[in-house]
Amino acid sequence: MDIYRHPTFDMACEQFDLVADLMQIPQAERERVKYPKRAFTVAVPVRMDSGEVKVFSGYRVQHHLSLGPTKGGMRFHPDVQLGEVAALAMWMSWKCALTGLPYGGAKGGVACDPRKLSTGELERVTRRFTQEIIPFIGPQIDIPAPDVGTNEQVMAWMMDTYSLHAGYSVPGVVTGKPVNLGGSLGRREATGRGVGFLVGRAMDVLGLKVNECTAVVQGYGNVGSVAAQSMAKHGVKIIAVSDADGGVFNANGLDLHKLDAHVAQHRTVAGFAEAEPITNAAILELKCDVLAPCALERQITAENAPRLKCRILAEGANGPTTPDADVIINQRDDIFVIPDILCNSGGVVVSYFEWVQDLQSFFWSEAEVVDKLFRILETAFTQTHTMAKQQKLPMRMAALSLGIKRVFEAKKQRGLFP
Ligand code: NAD
Repeated sequence: MDIYRHPTFDMACEQFDLVADLMQIPQAERERVKYPKRAFTVAVPVRMDSGEVKVFSGYRVQHHLSLGPTKGGMRFHPDVQLGEVAALAMWMSWKCALTGLPYGGAKGGVACDPRKLSTGELERVTRRFTQEIIPFIGPQIDIPAPDVGTNEQVMAWMMDTYSLHAGYSVPGVVTGKPVNLGGSLGRREATGRGVGFLVGRAMDVLGLKVNECTAVVQGYGNVGSVAAQSMAKHGVKIIAVSDADGGVFNANGLDLHKLDAHVAQHRTVAGFAEAEPITNAAILELKCDVLAPCALERQITAENAPRLKCRILAEGANGPTTPDADVIINQRDDIFVIPDILCNSGGVVVSYFEWVQDLQSFFWSEAEVVDKLFRILETAFTQTHTMAKQQKLPMRMAALSLGIKRVFEAKKQRGLFP
């Protein structure tokens, strides 16, 4: 499958192969479970504010269709490529299966830098991309959501473009919309809130006292900022955070209210007055109880893994740790890993709630959403931790095994057509 060649796809395949060996999935069955069912690339011509027409590349990968429609984020970032999206779609499949959601995984995006686009340009990129993929998305087919570089507004434009085509409002075509348009209360906070909940569970397991713990968050975006706030709410001291423009460190703890006001004004944490600057590389190696990488893939590598000084690695981002780094972390045996497909699953769980609410046109209170979210995360955490303990497996292998097993079994039960 050379079309997917990309370091992140190789990484997802390597993880799959390790689990397939462990589960003794017959060689003949592996490719059917591993490779994406559908992938497509679209050209997205957009008139820029200058009058020039620029053609962006858009992608969508639908990993498997055996448990329901596909579900996954849309990423707007200059480095988006088919192979990266395919890897992220694979991880979405295992994540949805681990948390018991009736979906296959998907992921997509546009190779563009949203920070360099005007609001009008961003809207035109979003609408034209949506128009190009209309035949392949829908509430029963594939349901996009926000990811890096996209947000509620982007989802609102996607939903509007799809609805104009249908001739009536179709809120269930995307999740992560504004609440006013059929979004779910608690969706925007869901991923970070889930990270905070699962960090709390890991602290229980390790016997750590929450209010004596410190945390470092790489990537102060949607996931990272809410994860930081959620941990801080329970008494964890947040000593450093970063984003694409740099990081800030204060050993006495950052005042997140003041930091958020700074971010609202400057669109970056860099330059926050009550802290020292720190690089994105150095932040990962700070001594802390919780390290939460919440930015992009492949941040923790064989190079820096020996120097991590955290007790808990809470993977808010997808794929932040390479398989080489995993080997080192597993050998060290002093870091409790909450693997990505578990740690950041709160987002897709509440996206599922949003889709259910849209299909029924019946909306829940935020308390109901949070209660149902924590129940699902509790079950997924307990199942993963129990399997890891009983079979002496790293948490990542346990989580992936549970997810891959469900997909493998669904494919076996449904059989091969014709
Ligand atoms: P976002 O765009 O809101 O935030 C990303 C943050 O990372 C930004 O602050 C950005 O400046 C920062 N960043 C980018 N490159 C960086 C670098 N090299 N070093 C440090 N920071 C950097 O995106 P998000 O939705 O918060 O997603 C973050 C991660 O979480 C991604 O891996 C995404 O796939 C994953 N995720 C998101 C959701 C969700 O609901 N949004 C759900 C599950 C997983």
